[in-house]
Amino acid sequence: MNMITNHLPTEELQALDAAHHMHPFTEGEGLAEKGARVITRANGVWITDSDGQEILDGMAGLWCVAIGYGRDELAEVAARQMRELPFYNTFFQTTHVPAIALAKKLAELAPDDLNHVFFAGSGSEANDTNIRMVRHYWAMKGQPERNIILSRKNAYHGSSMGSGSLGGMAGMHAQGGLPIPDIHHINQPNWWAEGGDSDPADFGLARARELETAIKEHGPERVAAFIGEPVQGAGGVIVPPETYWPEIQRICDHYGILLIADEVICGFGRTGNWFGSQTMGIRPHIMTVAKGLSSGYAPIGASIVCDEVAQTIAKDEFNHGYTYSGHPVAAAVALENLRILEEEKVVEHVRDVAGPYLKEKWQALEDHPLVGEARIVGLMGSIALTPDKASRAGFAGEAGTVGYICRERCFANNLVMRHVGDRMIIAPPLVITRDEIDILIDRARKSLDETYEKIR
Ligand code: PLP
Repeated sequence: MNMITNHLPTEELQALDAAHHMHPFTEGEGLAEKGARVITRANGVWITDSDGQEILDGMAGLWCVAIGYGRDELAEVAARQMRELPFYNTFFQTTHVPAIALAKKLAELAPDDLNHVFFAGSGSEANDTNIRMVRHYWAMKGQPERNIILSRKNAYHGSSMGSGSLGGMAGMHAQGGLPIPDIHHINQPNWWAEGGDSDPADFGLARARELETAIKEHGPERVAAFIGEPVQGAGGVIVPPETYWPEIQRICDHYGILLIADEVICGFGRTGNWFGSQTMGIRPHIMTVAKGLSSGYAPIGASIVCDEVAQTIAKDEFNHGYTYSGHPVAAAVALENLRILEEEKVVEHVRDVAGPYLKEKWQALEDHPLVGEARIVGLMGSIALTPDKASRAGFAGEAGTVGYICRERCFANNLVMRHVGDRMIIAPPLVITRDEIDILIDRARKSLDETYEKIR
């Protein structure tokens, strides 16, 4: 058998990939000609492709590699755990040490009385758990008709039937019959794109109050929960106006509906606190976590649940679970990742060093002729590209065309920066240094210049 290794020529790897590998969120047709970028190894904030290019990973993989690539400690923990107990399940009244230890650690790190952890293999699975858990919770409280979950347009909560329904991505809903029943979406707090002439603070309040309107429309006795990312990530790093979350919290409190914070991106330091809920000043009943939980070194997600919800559903068997719930290798890796985050004070680094430094440089990009707003919280940032800063107009033609050009220029300049429509987004590894931030900004500016030249 011919071995497929990093040593094969790039074109050969790309041809094999196009022939057999179906990619997420990628147009398959023409992939052989376009060629997928083949990543072969990585270290720190740098990834290397099959042509030997060293690329600054401004997206931490997919928002997940918090501690950076190449940490041997995680590899060693994984190998040790595989030798000792590579798998056992957590169904039917069984458990194991990695799951116990990780659940305890998450309960310590999570705010307030979020003391209980239900494990999953990903963020999507954890959000599916949340749908079933909150509906089961209300059924256990004698209110089974409370099964509506409210979410937001342009939210991203995962790709499964349930989590894809919670998300508000029109392109996803158009395929495969989403959303499932009893999930409804209000408008997002995206002032730049949708705020018109309004003041951002008023707009934030108005968008939050759409939650109240939706609750009244459906009937408060029918609404189980509201879910939101503290800062929408995949939707384009939409930082809500300051008025937004306090009003959402007030409304959830007033109607007694559960608040689910999807911390899959914001969790574990991304916003400069352990959780985005702390940065936004909200008190969720459930937090969804994944990604930074293991820095992406092993697939794992979880729902972190408050006392009231956990104790209520504990009164009955919760007929739900995944083969890999609390997978021992993934749990051990996650625990080691959390140890590194804590001992190396990575969250403090985001809050006090890298975050403020990147913020200053990122916001300075607003002087570029293509850049409308440059927003950033901790180490997640976005810039809105526009032909006209004053009117915040979009470009003529198909949305996303200019963003795509800019993304390609970034690649050519050895920087990974993603585009969501015509917004460029970054979320580098949390351990990024000031020198690396300088490189990131230089390459981003060069890519913006080249994009500007190209579209003029
Ligand atoms: N929730 C949020 C906020 C996300 O950004 C993502 C993934 O990007 C998910 C959930 C889904 O996580 P996963 O891809 O691990 O299923």
